[in-house]
Amino acid sequence: LFITLEGPEGAGKTTMIEKLAEDLADDGVEVLATREPGGIGIAEKIRTIILDKEHTMMDPRTEALLYAAARRQHLTEKVLPALREGKVVLCDRFIDSSLAYQGYARGLGIDEVYAINEFAIQGAMPDATLYFDIDPEIGLKRIARNAGREVNRLDLEKVGFHHKVRKGYHLLLQRFPDRIILIDASAPVDSVYQKAKKVIDGRLVQ
Ligand code: C5P
Ligand code: MG
Repeated sequence: LFITLEGPEGAGKTTMIEKLAEDLADDGVEVLATREPGGIGIAEKIRTIILDKEHTMMDPRTEALLYAAARRQHLTEKVLPALREGKVVLCDRFIDSSLAYQGYARGLGIDEVYAINEFAIQGAMPDATLYFDIDPEIGLKRIARNAGREVNRLDLEKVGFHHKVRKGYHLLLQRFPDRIILIDASAPVDSVYQKAKKVIDGRLVQ
């Protein structure tokens, strides 16, 4: 079972994935929790190139290709082997991030970015995607309070960019209504978590 977690900045994906992995393991489920971009050596190196705040001149297509390259390596080296072993894989960001950020918010086009990602993933789409929806104004405030978080190139973007990202995710919800499940992430953390856990538990008994 391949589950991805998506959403704009400050939606709480990282917090959710840690707790989901812990509780699923307690339930006796074999689980791999991982993240994108990164998750393994080559992809973590690509991540540092993409997110380096010195790289303000990075072309949007270069960015999209680097994400797709990191995704490919992480998928083949880590995600697919775990799925073959029967594990539940929880991945913090995947293809929908590229479609929302590079495809829609950066204006490359959702179809164009989908095409390079199809090349990269060869049909390995998630079984289900939890989309944590949050108003960017609230999300960015949450991030500002999280002092331990690394500063990256995306932090230099204006709030308008993050509104576009959210709009991009909403377009994806319409496009993939069977795969993507919307969760209101502005609710209290506990109730957001309960909803996410319920969705995964539902998929596990199928
Ligand atoms: O979710 P996480 O904080 O690990 O993401 C790192 C950064 O990469 C975030 O600022 C996110 O907005 C950005 N990102 C992006 N395009 C993607 C995936 C992530 O701009 N396709
Ligand atoms: Mg995160």
